[in-house]
Amino acid sequence: MPGKADVVVVGAGIAALALAIELQKKGISTILLERQKSPEGIPRGLTFQPNGLAVLEKLEALGRAKEIGSASQILEVKSWEGEVLLEADYGLLDHPQNYLLTANATEIERLLVYLAEKAGARVLWGTSFQELTMTEGRANGVVYEADGITDQIEASVVVGADGPQSRLRTSLGSQVKTKKYPDSFLVGLVGPVPGLEGRARQYQSPGKMLGIMPSGPEATYLFHCVGPRSFDSVKKEGLASFRAEVVQAAPEMADAFTGVEAWTKMAYFTPSYIQVNRWVGNGIALLGDAAHSFHPHAGQGVNLALEDAVALAEVIDKCKVAGDFSQTSLLEYQKERQMRADVIGKHANYTVTYALSDNWLIKRLNKRALHKLNKNKKLQKKALEITAGIFEKKPGLVTLAKIGGILP
Ligand SMILES: Cc1cc2nc3c(=O)[nH]c(=O)nc-3n(C[C@H](O)[C@H](O)[C@H](O)COP(=O)(O)OP(=O)(O)OC[C@H]3O[C@@H](n4cnc5c(N)ncnc54)[C@H](O)[C@@H]3O)c2cc1C
Repeated sequence: MPGKADVVVVGAGIAALALAIELQKKGISTILLERQKSPEGIPRGLTFQPNGLAVLEKLEALGRAKEIGSASQILEVKSWEGEVLLEADYGLLDHPQNYLLTANATEIERLLVYLAEKAGARVLWGTSFQELTMTEGRANGVVYEADGITDQIEASVVVGADGPQSRLRTSLGSQVKTKKYPDSFLVGLVGPVPGLEGRARQYQSPGKMLGIMPSGPEATYLFHCVGPRSFDSVKKEGLASFRAEVVQAAPEMADAFTGVEAWTKMAYFTPSYIQVNRWVGNGIALLGDAAHSFHPHAGQGVNLALEDAVALAEVIDKCKVAGDFSQTSLLEYQKERQMRADVIGKHANYTVTYALSDNWLIKRLNKRALHKLNKNKKLQKKALEITAGIFEKKPGLVTLAKIGGILP
C-alpha cells in the first residue's frame, strides 16, 4: 500500500475523480480512498448542465460522455394535464455547450476512473477514511481501514470529497445548516420513450413532479416525486401501481417499463439542502457535496462539484509552488466558489418549493412565472443562465423576483 502522496482525497465520486485528473496533469501525485469496492452505484441518470459540460470537455471526457448519454436542447415543462407551460431553449445561451446531457451516472464514473488512472492517480477501492492525522495544528494525512486492517497515508493536503454526510467535514469542525425536504423521490433508468428526441420533459403539479430525460440510446432517466410516502409504502402498492401513476401523467411512458421487473432498478431518496460555513482548514479542503448539497431539482450538484474540482486543483498547485498549504492560502478556493454555490442552492430551494407547493397563491404565481418565461425570451435566457450555472455575477433580487413571478 502507498504511504505517501501530495494529495489524498477521501471519496472517489465524480468530484474526486475530476480533481485527481486535474492534479495529476499538474504533476501533483494523488491517491483516492473509496469505501465502495467498485464504481457501481444506484441505477440513475445524471444531468449535466453547460457549466459541467465545459469541465467534462477540459477533462477530455465530453466526447465519450456524449456517446454514453443523450443531449437535449429543449427542457419542456408540462402541467399534469399535459398543457405545455414552458419550453426552455438552451440554444438561447451564449455558451459552446448550450444543451443538457443526461447519462448513466455509473458509466460516467467508470469513464472518469479510467481517465484518472491513466493520468497516474491511484484509487484504493474498499478503503474507509477513519481519521485525520495532524502535526502542529495542520493536517498531514489520514488513517484508513481496509478489510479490517488500519493503515496511514501522509499528504500535504487532505481533500474531503466524501459526499453530503462527509466525515472529513466533521473532523474539520465546520458548522452545517441542513434543511430536509418533506417530499421524497424515486429515480431509475427505464427503457426508451418515443418523441423525446432532443428534448427532456418535466411534468409539474402541486405536490407532484415527474422528470423524464433521455439517457443514452436505449434508456430514459425517470425522476418521480412520491411525496411524503416511504419507500416501503410505495413498494407495498406494487410496481404496477407505480407504473400506472407515472403513465397517468405521461402516457408516452407506457412501454418504457418493459424489462423493469424489480424495485432493485429504482432508488429512493429524500433530498436535503446542506450549507457549510467552512470549506478549508490548514492542509484540508472540502469538495462537491461535502461542501454544499442542494435539491436535485436544480440539476446542478454534479456540475458545481466538477467546477469546484478545477478551481481547487489550481489553488493546490499555487500552494505547492509557494510551499504553503495553510488555511489562509486554501481560502482562495472557498472565496472563488462559495458565491456560486449560494446562488444555486437558494435558486434550487425556492424553485422546488414553488413547484411542489399546494398553496393556491404560490401555485398561481408559479404557473404565471412559467408562462412568462415561455414568452419573454430575454428573461428566459437570464433564468437559464442561473440553471445552467453560467451567470457572470450574483443575480440581484429584482432579477430573481422577476424570474420567480413575484414581480410582474
Ligand atoms: C437521486 C439523485 C439525482 C441527482 N441528479 C443530479 C443531476 O441530474 N444533476 C446534477 O448535477 N446533480 C444531481 N444529483 C447530485 C449529484 O449526484 C451530486 O451533487 C454529485 O454526485 C456529488 O458528487 P461528489 O463526488 O461530491 O459526491 P458523491 O458522488 O456522493 O461521492 C462521495 C464518495 O465518497 C465515498 N465515501 C463517503 N464516505 C467515505 C469514507 N468514510 N471513506 C471512503 N469513501 C467514502 C462514497 O462512497 C462516494 O463514492 C443527484 C443526486 C441524487 C441523490
